[in-house]
Amino acid sequence: MRALSDLSANELAEAELNIQEQYDGYKNRKLKLDMSRGKPSPEQLDLSMPMLDTVQSSGLLNAADGTDLRNYGGIDGIPEAKALFARLLEVDSKEIIVGGNSSLNLMHDTIARAMIHGVYGSETPWGKLTVVKFLCPSPGYDRHFAICELFNIEMIVIDMLDDGPDMDTIERLVREDDSIKGIWCVPKYSNPEGITYSDEIVDRLAAMPAKAADFRIFWDDAYMVHHLTDRPDPLKNMLAACKAAGNADRVFVFASTSKITFPGSGVAVMAASVANVGYIRKQLSIQTIGPDKINQLRHVRFFPDLEQIAAHMNRHAAIIKPKFDTVLNKLETELGGKQLASWKKPGGGYFISLNTLDGCAQAVISLAAEAGVTLTQAGATYPYGKDPNDRNIRIAPTFPSLEELETAIEVLCLCIQLVSIRKLRA
Ligand code: PLP
Repeated sequence: MRALSDLSANELAEAELNIQEQYDGYKNRKLKLDMSRGKPSPEQLDLSMPMLDTVQSSGLLNAADGTDLRNYGGIDGIPEAKALFARLLEVDSKEIIVGGNSSLNLMHDTIARAMIHGVYGSETPWGKLTVVKFLCPSPGYDRHFAICELFNIEMIVIDMLDDGPDMDTIERLVREDDSIKGIWCVPKYSNPEGITYSDEIVDRLAAMPAKAADFRIFWDDAYMVHHLTDRPDPLKNMLAACKAAGNADRVFVFASTSKITFPGSGVAVMAASVANVGYIRKQLSIQTIGPDKINQLRHVRFFPDLEQIAAHMNRHAAIIKPKFDTVLNKLETELGGKQLASWKKPGGGYFISLNTLDGCAQAVISLAAEAGVTLTQAGATYPYGKDPNDRNIRIAPTFPSLEELETAIEVLCLCIQLVSIRKLRA
């Protein structure tokens, strides 16, 4: 396969005509395909339907310690849910708060509380400072960035490298600037690149000197069990690393069962040092008398141990791995060797991240939309929705059918070629 940049002017013009014709063919089909959001497919959701039968009106709704789960209470979770999540996150039960149905909600509220009250050990509530900044490894998760925007937290883009964020820059900034109060991290099968942080990155984040004594790592372990292969990426335990470095209070770990059982009806969890958890629990007890404990019971009955979760996630992988393969194979056959785009092959998670030539992503996404293929908005993977190179496209392959995916990626590849050729010819 020849790179487009090697083609003569005539050859380029001919290629453009040919690709335009193919694109028009798809456009005339009035497609309606959506690859924009990382949602499980209906077949994946079916896997968790038996969970709904674990709680019945005729059965007991008591926790192991006898608590009647139909009633108020249990501010930080039922004991067996805490125990399950403690094993999953490799922390102590005392370091766990089981929340409601959404980890994003926990993250949002953690920031909101930090702005209003500060975090454990803060001298001043973050919101009382003239400026608060967060480091945002990018491309990253748009909803993290949206939380920062909502609270007027200034975001600093940090480049993602192959084994995690650019630590040299992070260490320098955090050492020098006490208005930097936090960093967003999706440490395993990151959204969108599927990168897992190396041990070295975990250790450096845990140990780096921070000018702000109340600096926090927001460790969003959303995809901790979402493997696509039978050789899961290892991830070093961040809370343990922080403790070992003498910075036990530095990290807030978040996770949920949203993409294990049901998004919207899963169980979210937070892990942190006992001091952090105590501080947060006190504030939570003003906000609520307790979370949905019956849903926690459903989950612990459905997943009595980690092996059940692993088996369940294998069933998810059996459904979505062929979808990831379809996208990757199509990208390779349509774009391989043309030097118009690069992409990563993730070992887990929910996304494939693709980079076009600089300055092309927005145009590609618009062109795909005109042909009925919806992709995540251009720039969404960067703070303020601004991709400095206008090149990142996030592909979410889990929801569409295999057939829909094939077509959608064909259209995407045509759009990438068309936009790149137009750019080369301009
Ligand atoms: N964190 C990341 C990195 C995600 O990609 C998502 C969903 O796409 C979430 C959090 C949302 O989690 P939850 O459903 O628990 O709010």
